[in-house]
Amino acid sequence: CAPIILHIILSSSSTYTIPPTVVMVGPSNAGKTSLLTLFERGSSDTETHTSQISQSVELNASTDSSSKTSFRNHEATDGTYTKFLLIDTPGHGKLRNSALGKLNRSEKLHAVVFVVDAAALGEQETLAPTAAYLYDVLLFLQKRATTSAKSKAAIPILIAANKMDLFTALPSTLVRSNLEAEITRIRASKSKGLLDSGVGSDEIGSEEQDSWLGEYGSSKFTFSQLQEFEIEVDVIPGNVTGDGPGADKWWWWIAQRI
Ligand code: GDP
Repeated sequence: CAPIILHIILSSSSTYTIPPTVVMVGPSNAGKTSLLTLFERGSSDTETHTSQISQSVELNASTDSSSKTSFRNHEATDGTYTKFLLIDTPGHGKLRNSALGKLNRSEKLHAVVFVVDAAALGEQETLAPTAAYLYDVLLFLQKRATTSAKSKAAIPILIAANKMDLFTALPSTLVRSNLEAEITRIRASKSKGLLDSGVGSDEIGSEEQDSWLGEYGSSKFTFSQLQEFEIEVDVIPGNVTGDGPGADKWWWWIAQRI
């Protein structure tokens, strides 16, 4: 049900430092808790339930090339491993501020994973709230990247297009374009009047420009516009249950960024 935070502690370090963190967010029912359970136990058989409190698990990921795409919760008896702490926080709409707060407070945030239900994204009633949440997360990351004061590195984001085992699942190209189209609409409605006012962009306050997601003044939003802020956005299909590509590519994406 909820945003999940992965704290990664390098097991090789002898002194405890603030662990690198990967935060997993997304709307309710996307499959975050299922994915947490899969990463923790190697299967998602256990019933997940909507929780109002955060939960966390510690994981070990192999860094050996032969098993690096395996997300099994390894016993660290051979090879080298990266230790993760996953924190699952509520994803309910009213509690999203606390999820964004977690992003904000994560000193060593390395990446964000935004889980979506690809089987429901063809429906406007799922697409609209999913895109609205993603818009908030992307704008947060963009503002963070442009805040020079703290000289923080830009944070990459993975859009995990989940539930690819279902026949209603949209291919990841459509997941991408549907989200881009909906964010285009959201962006336009947030800036209503601003661009139509005939005021040149150099006359518009920097505050307005800072609140514009992506390329300023562009009519169509695309994820690639975030490259300007060095924010990498990837859409990768997968599934937690059933038959499909599975979760290996997500795991590998995370492993590359910690
Ligand atoms: P959360 O609210 O984002 O944490 O979502 P949950 O993990 O609670 O999952 C919501 C529902 O989607 C549950 O019934 C899961 O069993 C189901 N689910 C999660 N992942 C998949 C998947 O890959 N395929 C299918 N078919 N169902 C999934």
